[in-house]
Amino acid sequence: MNRGAGEAGVAGIGMTSARTRERLIQRLMEQGIRDPRVLDRIRNVPRHLFVDEALASRAYEDTALPIGHSQTISQPYVVARMTEAVTVGGTPAKVLEVGTGCGYQTAVLAPLVGRLYSIERIGPLLDKAKERARQLGIKNVRFKHADGSDGWKSQAPFDAILVAAAPHSVPMKLLEQLKDGGRLVAPIGPEGQQELLRLTRRGDQYMRERLGFVSFVPLLGGVS
Ligand code: SAH
Repeated sequence: MNRGAGEAGVAGIGMTSARTRERLIQRLMEQGIRDPRVLDRIRNVPRHLFVDEALASRAYEDTALPIGHSQTISQPYVVARMTEAVTVGGTPAKVLEVGTGCGYQTAVLAPLVGRLYSIERIGPLLDKAKERARQLGIKNVRFKHADGSDGWKSQAPFDAILVAAAPHSVPMKLLEQLKDGGRLVAPIGPEGQQELLRLTRRGDQYMRERLGFVSFVPLLGGVS
């Protein structure tokens, strides 16, 4: 097939990105990500749109990348793991996300839940995340600019809560906003010693599962 140089260039970029995306999916499967719905979302959400153009060529590497304001887009493996942990066994109707960041985790998760409520404390990051969700045709997310440590009282209780920044200890205020049977997935602990935990509510008791060591930015108070 004959193509003009420009077209060949664009097709070339497309090919590389399809190949690197598939390599990423292989890697996630090797690391134990099994849910085909989650793998499909990682395959289909264009992660390169969530980072600066200068970093776009690295968007399908399995690493966190800077998104400005001293924050990072989460590593694909961690996004996949948290999405699996939140959606296991079905489609949770109402989910709260604390720490929207650039909105990548939001975009991966949104179609796998009924309604998603996402809170971010840094205004400019939230604005960009909203814009990307709009571009991708994601319509079941409500965003809020606030300190997510308090949860979202007027919308509680939730079937699941996903926390994308690390508190030092399990936040009671968030646990209280879980439905009976609901689950909270969060990195807990100080920098360098964080563990991903899933706590499932059974009445006033919480069953605790350890999902492995992770590295997240800290959960901070207030808004900016
Ligand atoms: N999963 C996100 C990355 C999250 S980085 C993504 O895919 O891009 C963690 C985010 O949590 C940062 O944007 C940070 O500003 C936000 N954050 C930290 N503490 C917060 C709080 N108390 N309330 C809301 N957001 C918070």
